[in-house]
Amino acid sequence: MDDAPENNPLKILKSVYGYDTFRGSQAEIIDHVVGGGDALVLMPTGGGKSLCYQIPSVLREGVGIVVSPLIALMQDQVSALRELGVKAMFVNSSLPAYAAEEIEQQMMAGELDMVYVAPERLVTPRFMGRLAKTKLALFAIDEAHCVSQWGHDFRPEYRQLTVLHEQFPQVPRIALTATADEPTRRDIVERLQLGDAAQFISGFDRPNIQYRVALKKNAHQQLLRFIEAEHAGDAGIVYCMSRRRVEQTADFLNEHGHTALPYHAGLDPGLRQRHQDRFIQEEGLIICATIAFGMGIDKPNVRFVAHLDLPKSMEAYYQETGRAGRDGLASNAWMAYGLSDAGKVRGFIERSEASEQQKRIEHQKLNALLGYCETTDCRRATLLHYFGDQMDAPCGNCDTCLEPVETWDATVAAQKALSCAYRTDQVFGAAYLVDVLLGADQERIGRNGHEDISTFGIGTELTKTQWLSVYRQLVARGLLSVDVEHGSLRLTEKARPVLRGDQTVQLRKDPKPARRDRKSKRGRATVQVELRDDAARELFEALRAKRMQLAKSQGVPPYVVFGDRTLIEMAHHRPQRMDQMADLHGVGAKKLDKYGHAFLEVIASHQSEV
Ligand code: ADP
Ligand code: ZN
Repeated sequence: MDDAPENNPLKILKSVYGYDTFRGSQAEIIDHVVGGGDALVLMPTGGGKSLCYQIPSVLREGVGIVVSPLIALMQDQVSALRELGVKAMFVNSSLPAYAAEEIEQQMMAGELDMVYVAPERLVTPRFMGRLAKTKLALFAIDEAHCVSQWGHDFRPEYRQLTVLHEQFPQVPRIALTATADEPTRRDIVERLQLGDAAQFISGFDRPNIQYRVALKKNAHQQLLRFIEAEHAGDAGIVYCMSRRRVEQTADFLNEHGHTALPYHAGLDPGLRQRHQDRFIQEEGLIICATIAFGMGIDKPNVRFVAHLDLPKSMEAYYQETGRAGRDGLASNAWMAYGLSDAGKVRGFIERSEASEQQKRIEHQKLNALLGYCETTDCRRATLLHYFGDQMDAPCGNCDTCLEPVETWDATVAAQKALSCAYRTDQVFGAAYLVDVLLGADQERIGRNGHEDISTFGIGTELTKTQWLSVYRQLVARGLLSVDVEHGSLRLTEKARPVLRGDQTVQLRKDPKPARRDRKSKRGRATVQVELRDDAARELFEALRAKRMQLAKSQGVPPYVVFGDRTLIEMAHHRPQRMDQMADLHGVGAKKLDKYGHAFLEVIASHQSEV
């Protein structure tokens, strides 16, 4: 590379992408790869991995080859790059042969900056032969965890990628992933022969995501309140456990005036694809989905991810909530959780085909998740701790930080609750045990002969709701286990010291039913709230409409034209001239040229109206 000023990474960042500074370790990574070194990059979703190979591809002589497992993502990335004026193309099975041929010819002629290619095509002798005739800038291996069986998206073709290193030892390779647990990382290094590569490992934190867990009462109503108070008009994903619940939830939201589409494995594949496309192409759509949805969704302005049912594990929770806020703007991860969920997930695990050992692992993973739901500490700290990251101070951007949980000494209550389960032979569920504790005059209690046991009616100091909360938390802490068939509660080893009085128990006080306080610290996550006043909000809507119109006419998703943050800056700074527009976040030279005037017009016409 030469040292002309327009050819350094920071200049490219500004002139092509319209960004002012590198994030995290981007600058270091880019320097390393531009200098010809191999790299392994672990960065959370939204951290900005793409720039780490895109800028070196532009700067280094030759074509950058990007291996990517998902056709849909390739298309999106390439159209976004072309909008920026980068000469990028993709070749995959969605192209007719003559089109692929033409692109490969351009590649060999050195007319392109970057080519995205699927792994199975890359390793064919034909394509390898063509690479041998191409001047190569680098190989980028995106979603590198696909090489590992430990990872969740194993792709056998990734194993063959070692051939790149063998045939082109001089060409730098950069492998990237957001999945970073230790075994997967080791596997990537070994399988891709990256033993000598520099490792760039960022923490897992997603500071712009606010984590919250609500107690499930009426999940649909709670979801509706959450969306209407904080996310009117925003794009979001609602995860549910079953297909039926996905359908019901989408129906419910539609009945209440929101556009929601179902997505699950039982839908006709064509319809499912259309729903996914609409989610990407349109604004403000809600997808209700089983976990099948999300892979290959790169939409940067998903403003909320809601869980109506428990995810399977902390890993799944992190991955699913991670689809919110890739653009770095404030976003919400909201979950409604209740005791019956835990029983249901246990049931799935028990009934699965997995080996006994695998089941044990899955139960442990579920326990970690329940601990997260019931924590009285900072949620983010709990989440990051699970992945081996430490936080120095509470985050200030999760529900327990914003509204600290009160705890109470529940030792005696726990003893009563546990012995009540014990005295009734550990075959009843929480609802019945609470009735016994309260001495509810029920026929059933009499019939079972439980009026005479020592725990009958000894719990009148707490309400029914409070007792249910005690049982829920004892389950979450592993003092009781739920029988998957009948929901009955059994004591575990951990209950012993509490019953003996050797150990005290602190439980959380469940918050009072949501106060609808508009000024509360919650609900800061919508883009609407980032806008400082009504005038800015109005202008933002007008800019958004223009963006949609431009996107439609070119067949690209709106965020490919400009991201939300760029529109927010336009609404606040109200640029009048092209040079002022160029100063805004996300406005590079090419986009300024292409769209600058259209947006200046919207701003000017708004000015005259005010
Ligand atoms: P990842 O692949 O790690 O999930 P992306 O590369 O898609 O993340 O980047 C996420 C978003 O952040 C994109 O919209 C990208 O343009 C933006 N971005 C990346 N780096 C920067 C930066 N240095 N300054 C501002 N925005 C950035
Ligand atoms: Zn916190």
